[in-house]
Amino acid sequence: MLDLAIVGGGPAGLTAGLYATRGGLKEVVMFEKGMPGGQIMDSSEIENYPGQGEVMTGMELMQNWPAQCQKFGLKHEMNQVQSVVKEGETFKLTMVDGKEFESKAVLMATGSVPRKAGFKGEAEFFGRGVSTCATCDGFFYKGKEVAVIGGGDTALEEAVYLAKLCSKVYLIHRRDTYRAAPSTIEHMKNAENIEEVTNVTVEEVIGDASGVTGVIVKGKDNGEIRQIDVPGAFVFVGRDVLNEPLKQEDGSFLCDTNAQGEVIVNLKMETSVAGLYAAGDIRIDAAKQVVCASGDGATAAVNIIEYIG
Ligand code: FAD
Ligand code: NAP
Repeated sequence: MLDLAIVGGGPAGLTAGLYATRGGLKEVVMFEKGMPGGQIMDSSEIENYPGQGEVMTGMELMQNWPAQCQKFGLKHEMNQVQSVVKEGETFKLTMVDGKEFESKAVLMATGSVPRKAGFKGEAEFFGRGVSTCATCDGFFYKGKEVAVIGGGDTALEEAVYLAKLCSKVYLIHRRDTYRAAPSTIEHMKNAENIEEVTNVTVEEVIGDASGVTGVIVKGKDNGEIRQIDVPGAFVFVGRDVLNEPLKQEDGSFLCDTNAQGEVIVNLKMETSVAGLYAAGDIRIDAAKQVVCASGDGATAAVNIIEYIG
């Protein structure tokens, strides 16, 4: 029987693991389906983690976090949690490979995944020119022209990153104002090789057997169709929370969630179910920042230690 099962090894899960083990819990396992570090590992640049000093990549920021946790006894199970159910006072976690674990408490820290924009060709060309990670795939377009779709912090930051690698970036957005920090908008505006294509909807990403060849957009005001010839299209249109493991057999969620599927928590990161906690981007009203996810993880761990007694 575990004291605590942490589902997800991003900033929230890793920090919870550090505080839980250092705070005296003995059997703490962090379940992470990929490499620990979370979605920030996809970021080309982070500059707002307190005390970090230099601007760095997400991977650089996160590289020492797992070892620090392991030093205090956090165990890492590289596995994907399929479901979490509560039987009496005990939580049962089932992995996608069928393995099962029992735990006195569970922390959900599964974060989010890139949202699909829903245009034609998005799914067909995913991995063949359509990407959601500039740090992973930007290099393939060195010296070439690419499109970035979206108007939030991620789209603008990654457009600026791609503008350093690529000959030109078309920043395609459905409105003419952005949902990004003023300094990020300024960086984008200062990049000479970013062309803003605003007030348009993406009709389709087109391509052939070799992959993407272009993006077709339609003017919202004039209905004008424009074909932008590019071999790559990066889609950054927000993210959806990963709450699948909380789904029960009858389709309901194990704990209360809001209309977006975000987990409802109180200031102790407690959910509506005793012993079940949530931290980071998966919870309601998350600021969606590394420092906030990390803080949530610490808050949850402190309260879980008290819950276990
Ligand atoms: P995540 O980081 O999403 O981690 C969740 C982890 O859970 C993942 O590793 C995932 O593999 C794992 N997981 C999910 N489901 C399961 C399962 N069923 N079983 C096992 N494991 C599972 N924030 C900033 O503060 N500054 C920035 O500059 C910044 N830039 C960003 C740039 C980009 C491109 C992106 C995408 C995000 C950026 N963010 C930034 C936001 C920040 O990364 C997130 O707010 C933060 O990572 C959330 O942490 P988390 O631990 O809640 O979730
Ligand atoms: P976001 O802030 O939700 O922005 C998504 C953007 O995509 C919006 O501009 C939206 O348009 C557009 N969009 C949504 N659906 C679309 C569709 N179907 N077709 C075309 N465009 C669509 O998402 P994000 O940029 O990924 O950021 C997520 C969170 O992480 C935010 O809270 C953000 O602040 C945070 N983050 C922070 C940093 C940082 O601190 N430096 C960096 C990255 C992310 P509208 O504007 O018209 O809605």
